[in-house]
Amino acid sequence: MALPERAQVQEILRGMWITFRSMFEKPVTIQYPEVKRRIHTRFRGRHVLNRYENGLEKCIGCSLCAAACPADAIFVESAENTDEERYSPGERYASTYEINMLRCIFCGYCEDACPTQAITLEDNYELSFTSRRDAIYTKERLLVPVPEGGKPTPQKVEPGVFTRAVPEMADPTD
Ligand code: SF4
Ligand code: SF4
Repeated sequence: MALPERAQVQEILRGMWITFRSMFEKPVTIQYPEVKRRIHTRFRGRHVLNRYENGLEKCIGCSLCAAACPADAIFVESAENTDEERYSPGERYASTYEINMLRCIFCGYCEDACPTQAITLEDNYELSFTSRRDAIYTKERLLVPVPEGGKPTPQKVEPGVFTRAVPEMADPTD
């Protein structure tokens, strides 16, 4: 049933008053992407694979992150480092490292499981992709740039620099 004429006018004026009043209120929206919201300290955004200051990769290809991942989103393949081609200070490095962002639930378990702080969830939340293939973040996409003063991997190093001394076994007859 239609409202009487007087009531209709009242409703229109009420609507206009709400619009007028909101013109002076602080906006709750922002001009994204020109303006971005502050990220909270414990925010978990897109992962990165970190490097040491000399450029070597922190990842040693141990797959503990993949084992800890409840969504089965991480795939790691490892290979041996050599003095001619060294990627990480450890015996091994990740020759393949992939995260399927369509599976990831950003729980951070991979970061907690990593013994070298190689994988960390940072503040990048801009994760748009247009194909399933693009949702797979490869090692090349995840690795942070080489820090200033560092060298890209693989690096050629002096023989034996990264060989860990094997502790001598105690003689059981002593
Ligand atoms: S944040 Fe969680 S779900 Fe995502 S890759 Fe790491 S462990 Fe897997
Ligand atoms: S990111 Fe960390 S836990 Fe995962 S394979 Fe590399 S070193 Fe291991």
